[in-house]
Amino acid sequence: MATARKLLIATSNAGKRRELESAFAALGWECIGPDALGIDSPEETGATFLENALLKARHGAGRCDTWVLAEDSGLCVPALDGAPGVYSARFAGDGASDAENLTLLLQRLEGLAPSQRQAYFVCVMILLRGPRDPDPLVTRGVWRGTIAQQARGVGGFGYDPIFLPQGREGSSAAEMSLEEKLQESHRGRALRQLLAEMQLESV
Ligand code: IMP
Repeated sequence: MATARKLLIATSNAGKRRELESAFAALGWECIGPDALGIDSPEETGATFLENALLKARHGAGRCDTWVLAEDSGLCVPALDGAPGVYSARFAGDGASDAENLTLLLQRLEGLAPSQRQAYFVCVMILLRGPRDPDPLVTRGVWRGTIAQQARGVGGFGYDPIFLPQGREGSSAAEMSLEEKLQESHRGRALRQLLAEMQLESV
């Protein structure tokens, strides 16, 4: 088994890194990113969040000697048959910006009744304790809400400015602090489950 207490956070997404590092650093873990180890990003060829999360975790674990935390996440809109789904980061094309992706989503939802604007974020998180770990920890978190008519707020990343979380429809996810967002979000839920499982294993 590889070294514990040092964790590769296998994502090049700065927004995700901020959210995950804040939680693990508070528990005394030393977090490193793939860039610091010269690890590139794998092609996300999976059809599901689970497949892509495992693919990212395996890619990282094969290239370092620390434990690896990977996640795959995205936004699903039932009225669009689950799109953008696993294509959330590249909805408007490869290399698309967050602004381009959310603008395209707003266009696709134009004219739809509020009940058709329901959406949810999903995050599948995986902890791999080395390249040959046969039993990775796997957790999943969901965050429900609706898609706003227009963007609001400057915090967060990705689709946050157009996501109105259930129970707080007056503001978008981009108007929440990092701590508030982690309290409710798909990533926060998956993370707390993972930390609980790690505690059960006395990691
Ligand atoms: P991937 O997991 O790297 O394929 O990318 C996930 C994409 O889903 C991000 O680039 C965002 O567009 C979107 N996404 C995932 N989580 C969040 C979130 O917490 N807020 C806003 N957008 C998110």
